[in-house]
Amino acid sequence: HLSPRLQALADHVPKRSRLADIGSDHAYLPAHLLLTGQIDFAIAGEVAQGPLANAQQEITRHHLADRLQPRLADGLAAIRPSDAIDCVVIAGMGGHLITQILTAGQPRYDRLILQPNTDQPLVRLWLMEHHYRLTAEDVVADDGHRYEIMVAQPGAATYTQEELQFGPYNIRQNQPTWRAKWLQEADRLRQLKQTLSKRGQAQTQAYQHYCSQLKAIEGVLG
Ligand code: SAM
Repeated sequence: HLSPRLQALADHVPKRSRLADIGSDHAYLPAHLLLTGQIDFAIAGEVAQGPLANAQQEITRHHLADRLQPRLADGLAAIRPSDAIDCVVIAGMGGHLITQILTAGQPRYDRLILQPNTDQPLVRLWLMEHHYRLTAEDVVADDGHRYEIMVAQPGAATYTQEELQFGPYNIRQNQPTWRAKWLQEADRLRQLKQTLSKRGQAQTQAYQHYCSQLKAIEGVLG
């Protein structure tokens, strides 16, 4: 019984993975995967004491100490070579922070499962520039919010500006949750345009920017 967002992340974790959940807080995701027998080993990385204590509590509650190790560390420094981690989850933080964490960690992993709350295009660009290719994307509705999930694996890929902004799989899949996100953004841009128009500011750079953004969205939604 994970939340829809955490369940969607769990769905992308291959069976028998050795998992690192970076910024794990309560460690709900690795605990669930272990308790349901989908994986056998995980670490829960946390940079802060409070969230690490939450993870520790969850581990104790479910008697998972032999299979789920809490580590106090900044980003991927939580992972040791002997862990043989092949799947890394970084979820529930800003896209900029996610790229910083990825940049600071040198090793490559078979699979990254990322859920940036913001700056999704920046994360796609980071992946493209660091020899990762996207292998799946998803937009999940949960508790009145929409969350973007991306899965990447080592490999070369070149994405267009449109694909970087909207997500290559998102565009092809054309999911209702993804459409809803961009329909809402299009509405917001139309309102901004209208406001500027009324103020006689239709010649400004801001106005032109809203127009080009809106055109890009209308183009991709079809
Ligand atoms: N990953 C969980 C989820 O998706 O539900 C928890 C997300 S919580 C909002 C973000 C967590 O990331 C916080 O507990 C925070 O302490 C942790 N965090 C932020 N920067 C970090 C870093 N550089 N290394 C490890 N953890 C970090």
